[in-house]
Amino acid sequence: MTAVVVLGSINMDLTTYVARAPRRGETVTGHELRTLPGGKGANQAVAAARAGASEVAMIGAVGTDAYGPALLAELAHNGVDTDLMRTVEGPSGTAHIVVDAQGSNAIVVIPGANGTLTHLPPGDEALIATADTLLLQLEIPMSGVLAAAKAAHRHTVRTVLTPSPARELPAELLAVTDLLVLNEREATALTGQENHRTALAALLEKVPEAVLTLGAEGCLYASREHEPLHVPAPKVETVDTTGAGDTFVGALAVALGEGRTMPQALSWAVCAAALAVTKPGAIAAMPFRSEIEDGDLGGS
Ligand code: AMP
Repeated sequence: MTAVVVLGSINMDLTTYVARAPRRGETVTGHELRTLPGGKGANQAVAAARAGASEVAMIGAVGTDAYGPALLAELAHNGVDTDLMRTVEGPSGTAHIVVDAQGSNAIVVIPGANGTLTHLPPGDEALIATADTLLLQLEIPMSGVLAAAKAAHRHTVRTVLTPSPARELPAELLAVTDLLVLNEREATALTGQENHRTALAALLEKVPEAVLTLGAEGCLYASREHEPLHVPAPKVETVDTTGAGDTFVGALAVALGEGRTMPQALSWAVCAAALAVTKPGAIAAMPFRSEIEDGDLGGS
């Protein structure tokens, strides 16, 4: 049984499908529009809830537009506690995604309400204090991320940070981060290193533990105490990798909170993420606990 709190973004993703993306000044006709909830905060919250956390609460903000209630309903429908979600005057966060026939995309994100998460009200700290794990990403203002990470540290709550979108991380944030989970692109952006082990070694100078996710290759974990451990991903038919990283983090948080060892928790997380890539969409593709258990290839 584990309690997870997520502080982060929630967006309505507006995805248009076109034969090819418009050039500057050009209008093209698309053939489909999909309107689906997303944002890394919401994705991780739903992933943790589906992976079987006993309680998952999200701290975030939606706007007073029509998307606000729809976004809150999506969280609630997935078993995420929304008591500390705020509704603020103005638009909800939106992501405007253009996908072409090759599957390449171009994305504009407008933070909207997510941009108001600049600080941590006392009620939020009280909730974080009750959690096993706090999940953070970087789609909200850095001041809000920092306040939450410091609160978690004060209450000895494990803080897991996904540094996405990649940007420079303040030393005071790294000082209160227990575990970094990041992909190859983010690791290179943060360390300037292409080599996985060298990048991990550089990260371990700043945080005690890090997991580098490697797509179809699984992940590489390293800590200050242990040699790097490679956990391969199960071989699956890849349909859509959107949300795979968030599924990985949500499942990892649940497994660690249940007291599994890190190798066991990583095996569980790669199974959950592999299941997520076999279906289209982000939240829509996230596996439920029973599915992860059926597909669990090792560990516990
Ligand atoms: P990424 O953000 O692409 O590194 O993916 C995050 C995690 O999702 C990886 O560590 C894998 O566990 C899983 N994953 C991503 N792509 C695949 C794939 N093609 N096959 C199996 N697992 C995958």
